[in-house]
Amino acid sequence: LNESRQRLHGIIASATDAIITVDSEQLITLFNSAAEKMFGCPAEAAIGSRLDRFIPLRLRDAHRGHIARFGDTGVSARAMGGQRALIALRSDGREFPVEATISQITVGGNRLFTAIIRDVTERHRAEEELALRASELVRSNTELERFAYIASHDLQEPMRSVSNFAQLLRRRYKGKLDSDADEFIDFITQGVERMKKLIEDLLAYSRVGSQGAALEPTRSGDVLGRVLEDMRARIESSGAIITHDAMPVVRADATQLGQVFQNLIANAVKFRGEGRTPKVHISAMKSGNECEFGVKDNGIGISPEYFERIFQIFQRLHTIEEYAGTGIGLAICKRIVERHGGRIWVESAPGAGSTFKFTIPQGRTG
Ligand code: ADP
Repeated sequence: LNESRQRLHGIIASATDAIITVDSEQLITLFNSAAEKMFGCPAEAAIGSRLDRFIPLRLRDAHRGHIARFGDTGVSARAMGGQRALIALRSDGREFPVEATISQITVGGNRLFTAIIRDVTERHRAEEELALRASELVRSNTELERFAYIASHDLQEPMRSVSNFAQLLRRRYKGKLDSDADEFIDFITQGVERMKKLIEDLLAYSRVGSQGAALEPTRSGDVLGRVLEDMRARIESSGAIITHDAMPVVRADATQLGQVFQNLIANAVKFRGEGRTPKVHISAMKSGNECEFGVKDNGIGISPEYFERIFQIFQRLHTIEEYAGTGIGLAICKRIVERHGGRIWVESAPGAGSTFKFTIPQGRTG
């Protein structure tokens, strides 16, 4: 008996949580060393006094009622305070948040309540900081989005005017000045065309978040059909063979889902292997609560070290001379897929073709 008492005493004394026992009058009968540290009060001073002294004045009545009601339930143990953090009071008057469980036992006809209390000040501070960081991130992200939108939107107007006058210059003066001038005019027109495409793509990128439509049950087969129809000329001139699985209904913004298919299929055709007929297969597979789509090609492939980088804005692995493009397509796909709560990645090896995969969660539509 003695040994078991010593063991119990050791456990209580060495516990890192405060352990406080009160009798039915709510007078303290046990106060371990973690409680001494947490409440800044030696056990000799605490034992025999009312538990109230460790509870802020404004909360005392509620707390007393809580213990009394708990006594009436006859339940042996439960967490105190539900989802809310409880507030405790140190003997120096400082308040701090705690988490506590309360249990009751009856010994020799006397009911004893034991509270096991954990100081959660640090955790709260960390949670608050995390919440603050998250809201700052959201704010700076929104600001960046607005910036990209305004910049690209406002650049369109002067861009159009430069483009129009460059074309005018070319039409009216080509062959009338010297050959250098002709060449310069060509450079200007090419540069302007490229800049126009960049601005358009940047605008499309910044619109993903701000101008997306609601996600609703969407027949991905219809979306794909429309995209293939729009791309018909490009597909036919490349000689590409495009096949696809049966396509499911998913919860999506149809226009944006179409943009993803369109970008991935355009890339699959664009980055084709030399002397090879491009073959593209669009797969769709339900797995768990999401649908996994794949766009597989037999093109030039990608080395694993670039798997992440190609999804970043403006990142490309080739020069404009090798393959036309702005390096925004995959960044748009990534934003769209993430807006739908999904993921996008690539599986590939140089020369072995690429498969771009993305998931779209099914949401409540099943
Ligand atoms: P863009 O096509 O305008 O260059 P993207 O963002 O669509 O921009 O693609 C980024 C880069 O990823 C491409 O420049 C290319 O290097 C690589 N890439 C994308 N799709 C494929 C593909 N199907 N096969 C091989 N490389 C690809």
